[in-house]
Amino acid sequence: MTTTSRLPGLHKLSPLERLHKLSEATALSQSSIEHLANMGNLNTATADSMVENVIGTMNIPLGIATNMIIDGLDILIPMATEESSVIAAVCNAARQCRNTGGFTTASSGSLMIAQIQLVDVPNPAFARLQILERLNEIKMICDETDPVLLKHGGGFRDIEVRTLASRASSMVITHLIVDTRDAMGANAVNSMAEAVAPYIAQWTGGRCYLRILSNLADRRLARARATWSLEEIGGAEVRDGILSAFEFADIDPYRAATHNKGIMNGVSAVVLATGNDTRAVEAGAHAYAARSGQYRSLTQWGIDGDGNLTGSIEIPLAVGLIGGATRSHPTASIALEIMNIQTAEQLARTIAAVGLAQNFSALKALATTGIQKGHMALHAKNIAVMAGALGDEIETVASQLVAQGKIRVDIAEEILTSLRQ
Ligand code: NAD
Repeated sequence: MTTTSRLPGLHKLSPLERLHKLSEATALSQSSIEHLANMGNLNTATADSMVENVIGTMNIPLGIATNMIIDGLDILIPMATEESSVIAAVCNAARQCRNTGGFTTASSGSLMIAQIQLVDVPNPAFARLQILERLNEIKMICDETDPVLLKHGGGFRDIEVRTLASRASSMVITHLIVDTRDAMGANAVNSMAEAVAPYIAQWTGGRCYLRILSNLADRRLARARATWSLEEIGGAEVRDGILSAFEFADIDPYRAATHNKGIMNGVSAVVLATGNDTRAVEAGAHAYAARSGQYRSLTQWGIDGDGNLTGSIEIPLAVGLIGGATRSHPTASIALEIMNIQTAEQLARTIAAVGLAQNFSALKALATTGIQKGHMALHAKNIAVMAGALGDEIETVASQLVAQGKIRVDIAEEILTSLRQ
């Protein structure tokens, strides 16, 4: 039990000193403290420089998705996830579209949006024009804020000014549209918004409040498409089942949430493996899925002229190769090296293909055997571990659980007990 959550000065201590404080404040055993003190392959100093009050690291398995062909090239994709079946799903989907060329990808570019909120303007429509007239000055202010970005071919591109009616009064919202190249760009565009805001207030006579990027990165869309032949997927019935599952997701938000969650299983695993911001990508994806006013599928499924199954995805993907943890986390750099990724745009396109692959496997499983068959076989191992199985016992208990068709922890315990006798 925690004695107190007041631990003044914790942030000033080293991770090891913090652990000692933690052991004093909680009933953690010595072995738990030793477990936390083992930082794995993220060294203590690096972890400590990334976030506040560090006491350990949380290791998540890193697996490799095989079989992927993207834009004509074979690519091995590292995925960081704690969920079973996710990596296997990508491998299976990719294998089944190798004979049709794999995935073809594209991108709308690397434009991010920063928002500046202006309130207390007497005439919002008038203020809108006053801001639009200052395009060149705004460009100068933005580009002066980040000369390094400019040097890498990025920088300010455009503005957009919207007037929004709120309950109290109207707001004037300025969007700075910035090419952030190989950076995710949050810090880059936030700095620009902060630099421009005082000028907007001065030009219009209003007051600026929020100055921050939008995670609805709809000018940074990654696209991927693929075709699965009827023979590979097991015939027209399977194809039609997949199409029906897609239609369901496209008309029902309850289903769409789970459908898109599956897509994000793949997307977030690569985003995490490369040290990118999973929350930013997830927020963007879900907001984009709701852009029509109804939350819908991020993928589209159909039939080509020969009756084969076609799938496509379009998803905002604000990911970078620089900034955040992408360079500071050693595993993230190695993940990029495995994929031989050279640009943030290439990474985004790769992630989109993984999202589509994931969706294919989930829909196929749902439309045929049901999700639990494949999922539970892998999940059985987790259940075996939960029941206390160690080493070789895990596989033995898991396969017996699968054979019995009942993946339950109480049954795993029974199997384990008889195994140990
Ligand atoms: P950053 O500021 O650390 O680095 C980006 C900078 O690197 C650029 O501004 C540029 O000056 C420089 N740079 C060097 N080479 C470059 C190249 N080839 N292309 C582009 N820029 C290059 O990182 P960032 O991408 O601005 O910010 C990302 C971080 O911000 C993430 O960790 C994210 O979690 C965090 N963040 C996110 C949000 C959000 O999503 N709402 C808000 C705040 C912060």
